[in-house]
Amino acid sequence: MGSDKLTQIPTQEDDPPNPTTALLSFNTTTTHHPPRPITTTLLLVTLLLTTAITLSAALAFAFLFFSSTTAEATSSHTPISHFSRPLQKLTHPVVILVSSDGFRFGYQFKTDTPNIHRLIRNGTEAETGLIPVFPTLTFPNHYSIATGLYPAFHGIINNYFVDPINGDSFNMGSHEPKWWLGEPLWETVANHGLKAATYFWPGSEVHKGSWSCPAKFCMNYNGSVPFEERVDTVLSYFDAPSSEIPVFMTLYFEDPDHQGHQVGPDDPEITDAVARIDRMIGRLIKGLEKRGVFEDVTIIMVGDHGMVGTCDKKLIFLEDLAKWIEIPKEWVQSYSPLLSIRPPSGYSLSDVVAKMNEGLGSGKVSNGDKLKVYLKEELPGRLHFSASERIPPIIGLVEEGFKVEQKGSERKECGGAHGYDNAFFSMRTIFIGHGPQFARGLKVPSFENVQIYNLVTSILNIKGAANNGTSSFPNTVLLPCKSI
Ligand SMILES: [Zn+2]
Repeated sequence: MGSDKLTQIPTQEDDPPNPTTALLSFNTTTTHHPPRPITTTLLLVTLLLTTAITLSAALAFAFLFFSSTTAEATSSHTPISHFSRPLQKLTHPVVILVSSDGFRFGYQFKTDTPNIHRLIRNGTEAETGLIPVFPTLTFPNHYSIATGLYPAFHGIINNYFVDPINGDSFNMGSHEPKWWLGEPLWETVANHGLKAATYFWPGSEVHKGSWSCPAKFCMNYNGSVPFEERVDTVLSYFDAPSSEIPVFMTLYFEDPDHQGHQVGPDDPEITDAVARIDRMIGRLIKGLEKRGVFEDVTIIMVGDHGMVGTCDKKLIFLEDLAKWIEIPKEWVQSYSPLLSIRPPSGYSLSDVVAKMNEGLGSGKVSNGDKLKVYLKEELPGRLHFSASERIPPIIGLVEEGFKVEQKGSERKECGGAHGYDNAFFSMRTIFIGHGPQFARGLKVPSFENVQIYNLVTSILNIKGAANNGTSSFPNTVLLPCKSI
């Protein structure tokens, strides 16, 4: 099956499209130019200037460093360590990966979130949020977090899609291993003979490698399970003897995505949902503290994507393109925000794209300038959204907050959506790492969620599978071990 095999995973290290250019640019630093004739005076002046610049830069850096560490010390009241902190009670590192679906970056300021802020204050945060992968949808992103792979490589290219090779349909209840490529964290952990526990996560019910979704440690998805019960079950794993405690656990909450779709990101319902998630984080912290393991356990709190408001005036109808080209609904695999189209064989794909864009750019199609259609190979490379047969050949990128529909209707609605270009700030979510290997009060620049896989395997000190993350990334975020 062509679409089942995982071929050539480019890591972020070899991301530049032309490896030769990349190699050359690395070489420039080590290239030795022949010395040019120069007067001693000029050399002396240059040397003095360089020294002055270096000194002032060093002083400025030292000032920034000390002023930031002072702020850190006064705000957190905890001793600063430049090395990872030794485990006090547990015999091995444990990572709890928590996902709050649709937790848009900035929601943490909607209301008082004392528990989330406790993790932020004493942990490491992506200062301007975590960048989801494209398309910024739930299943593709959760599985990118779990595998470190872009959707084109892990195979879950949408929440639902059709495999063009055999015509089989994937939906969010599909648990056959053939859909789920790559190696998710629970499988990596099981392959090392260690225990993992999943309290819901897309893909976690799929049997892969040594992971057989054991009844005791792998919950079958059921959205009606109260959040409290989920937290308490995860906490109960810590009541086992230390050697029996799973080294990796997932914990998933559907909120505030659920409310975000119905009412958009700026509604009192979102504020309530955020406050509830904060209470769940508080319940988790309290339970770990009660068991004396809070400082030993690593909590990584993330979301899968953000949310943006949509409204009935921000629509684009494919039927409005009929003057240029008819797009029957049978061609369309998904409408919005990820427009994906697979015309039957016999049609010229580039002709379809050209005619659609001609109509959209004509000024005669309502909101036509808010949608641009591409052959998938011609999408911006930063989206990493072409290297899979499962991805339909024609993809539309729609402007933030706009939606694509087949035809106009009388339906009036405002709500929220995600799935847009991951460059939009509204699609960002949160990343907070709290635990022995995370510095306290540290802010790191935003990064893509494909980096999380390597971060977790690094904390657990196990070898991970090949993925799209950067192997050196954990060194830039985690504290080093104290050398003896
Ligand atoms: Zn989601």
